[in-house]
Amino acid sequence: MGSAAAMARTAPQRALIFLGPPGAGKGTQARLIAERYGVPHLSTGDMFRDHVRRDTELGRRARPIMERGELVPDEIVLGMVEERIARPDCRMGFVLDGFPRTLAQAEALDRLLEAHGFGRPVVLHLVADEALLLRRLAGRRTCKLCGAVYNIYDRPPQVPGRCDLDGGELVERPDDREEVVRQRLASYHRQTRPLVDYYRARGVLVDVDGTADIEAVSRQVVALVERAAAS
Ligand SMILES: [Zn+2]
Repeated sequence: MGSAAAMARTAPQRALIFLGPPGAGKGTQARLIAERYGVPHLSTGDMFRDHVRRDTELGRRARPIMERGELVPDEIVLGMVEERIARPDCRMGFVLDGFPRTLAQAEALDRLLEAHGFGRPVVLHLVADEALLLRRLAGRRTCKLCGAVYNIYDRPPQVPGRCDLDGGELVERPDDREEVVRQRLASYHRQTRPLVDYYRARGVLVDVDGTADIEAVSRQVVALVERAAAS
């Protein structure tokens, strides 16, 4: 099946959007699919830093807001996204990570994608149950010395509390404390569920089983993207 193999390597020329709760592996899957197709993996955090570094007009407007730790207004975020997706390296498609976050952003993004000839996005919704996410996130321990990540349930170190690589102390990052994880999950449901409903109603959302291991999830994502891009 030479033609199928050739098709598998063809970038989808679409916007790929990942939605899913913290701990479902969005960032990892976004990076893997971007590498597979050789398309840019775009995060709004990187875009902000790039604009601030280049001292663009958008960067000059965003900087004081970011420094105050406030949310950058949609108008500025969308300006950055539009400027970024218009660049030649996005011609064959791109992957969005951490954007859109609100319904208003999703609607505005749809208009941008149409205007720039990308058509409808492919939205990959990583689904995993709460108990599994809690275990993944609240079980996480990080080496103070080298940053290696362990999980006391799924990937324990050989010696409890010590890094296998350098013996460094393993600590729980503030973000990974169970109480904080529960809050992050609740805030995800509040903010992101409307996006899931919106994209599902538009018929562009596909559910991905986020409970499997990274490689199995990645194979599912590739198959779904190829099916969606061919339709
Ligand atoms: Zn270490």
